Amino acid sequence: MAKKQFKAESKRLLDLMINSIYTNKEIFLREIISNASDAIDKLCYLSLTDEGVGMNREDFRIEVIPDKEARTITVRDNGIGMTREECESNLGVIAKSGSYAFRDTMDEEHKEDLSIIGQFGVGFYSAFMVSDEVTVITRKYGSDEAVKWQSSGADGYTVSEADRAEVGTDVIMHIKPDTEEEVYGSYLEVWKLKALIKKYSDYVRWPICMDIEHQERYETGEKNDDGSPKVEYRMVKENETVNSMVPIWQRSKSEVTDDDCIAYYKEKNHDRKDPCALIRVNAEGTVSYKAMLFVPGEQNEGVFYGDAKGGITLYSNGVMIMEKCDKLVHDYFEFVKGIVDSPDLSLNISREILQHDRQLRVIGQNLEKKIKGELEKMLKEDKPKYETFFRNFGVHLKCGVCDEYGRYKDFLRDLLIFYTSEDRQITLKEYVENMPESQKVIYYAASDSVKHAMSLPQCELVRSRGYELIYLTSALDEMVIENLREQDGKSFCNVVTDDLGFETEEEKKAAEERDIENREFLDFVKDSSDGRIVKAKLSSKPGSLPCCLTTEGGITLEMEKYFRNGPNEEMRSIKANRVLELNPEHEAVKALQAAYAGDKEKAASLTKVLLVLAEMMAGVEVEDPAEFVGLVSKLF
Ligand code: ADP
Repeated sequence: MAKKQFKAESKRLLDLMINSIYTNKEIFLREIISNASDAIDKLCYLSLTDEGVGMNREDFRIEVIPDKEARTITVRDNGIGMTREECESNLGVIAKSGSYAFRDTMDEEHKEDLSIIGQFGVGFYSAFMVSDEVTVITRKYGSDEAVKWQSSGADGYTVSEADRAEVGTDVIMHIKPDTEEEVYGSYLEVWKLKALIKKYSDYVRWPICMDIEHQERYETGEKNDDGSPKVEYRMVKENETVNSMVPIWQRSKSEVTDDDCIAYYKEKNHDRKDPCALIRVNAEGTVSYKAMLFVPGEQNEGVFYGDAKGGITLYSNGVMIMEKCDKLVHDYFEFVKGIVDSPDLSLNISREILQHDRQLRVIGQNLEKKIKGELEKMLKEDKPKYETFFRNFGVHLKCGVCDEYGRYKDFLRDLLIFYTSEDRQITLKEYVENMPESQKVIYYAASDSVKHAMSLPQCELVRSRGYELIYLTSALDEMVIENLREQDGKSFCNVVTDDLGFETEEEKKAAEERDIENREFLDFVKDSSDGRIVKAKLSSKPGSLPCCLTTEGGITLEMEKYFRNGPNEEMRSIKANRVLELNPEHEAVKALQAAYAGDKEKAASLTKVLLVLAEMMAGVEVEDPAEFVGLVSKLF
């Protein structure tokens, strides 16, 4: 029989399919099953108006039949079937299966990136990823003739008459021999096929059936020595429906309770804890979709190993098209798990085109709004629950605020909560609402622990005025504040570095004059500090203490600590500009000034002691404890 040639572009894609290295060969089964399901849809639809079909809804099914000896997998459906012409026109070209068209829209640079192709749904042709010969035996509804279409790949195909009593289609894939890289034979295993059906086609509307062997316990009819019936085991084959068909999210809200959804989540995600939020969406409009999303109750340990990432799985009409799709929503919501099912999504979606797909962008944006709304509701109605959520996932939101130069900060700011000197966690909005009239700025202290922040003399000053203080305990927190810049028109004040705003203009002027008068003394203090400070000044900031350490410029002590663990030397050498602030009212500073007037050597020692005290207060590691001990000992 003469071989017919594939249309040019189909031949090219076939070549690619057969000869290149694909990462995701297993999708072939999903593609062939989806075609079978579509074919059944068509006949089922016809049966509504055409009594001649003689089939009921329950009669339709897809059969997956592996045959290890013949090395074939047959996917059989009792759908609409194809005529000879349809076989030629549908299977002879890659017309509708969007991958080729997509490839055409790719820019030149990516055109030859063959690996991309393997990630799409490529329809019928994907059978050639695992088969060296594909035979289709089909009979169209209403036709007396059955057709056999056969091809072993790019060199063409044959069409001939065939025998087939029933309407429907068999796609028989002859599986390639095993190679060193790929054990194609594994696709002939029942367990493997079953797993693939579960993974990709669990929610196909029609039953997907397989003969599955079970061990069965039976009584032989004989008796044991003790008179009990003798029991033996045998293997029996049963035809089982492998897929669950109707996905939980496709059923109406009245049919499926929230508890059902939670049970589904726990089972699917192997999570023993209840999720802390459930979001169910049934959107109809320009883009229709159903979504069922969960915010896990706990940070899964696996997150740190990168294998238990959240992510949303995409389905199109119950057919899984992408698992753990991490690009549907921004990274700041990457902890959200669940599913989105939209009939408007094409099977040909890949991670590469996902971001550019308009419909997906619309879905992603809508879902983000829903997630935010749900979190805001939790914050308002169940604060302790929100605090737990924030402890687990707040870091994602904080990173989101800093991402892309603060592009998402306004979307996220109301979801952030901060621990304050009033021993509570509040949003910045609440903080500003609670500010007394006299307070002009939002005070915050950055330190590595709340306990330490509380002990900073500057905090004491702020608190003594009756103002609330936000305690930041990580460099990320500080970056968040930098990105947010303000809240409801109020700017931030870092109590360690910034002017607290408590001094009147006159007081400031007097302080400046005092610094000028004491210039020589202050320069002496600086020069005695072995380069550890850039400046010394007299101030009231230390409160009841003799001195404190502050910084000037953009780098704070907390940031310096953060950079110290940086990836390169340049980063690690970033230092904050330290300022030693001395309280002129304090006895210790008075003693230093007296020493400066009479005994410079003693004054230098006292300076060093005060500097170390200030460093300890600021939570900076003391560089030379032995020197410090020596200096203090000499004071006695
Ligand atoms: P797509 O499904 O994206 O249209 P495919 O390459 O998978 O592309 O299939 C091409 C066409 O072949 C289908 O649109 C359908 O008309 C036909 N076809 C494939 N498999 C079957 C089947 N099992 N029964 C009837 N028609 C089929």
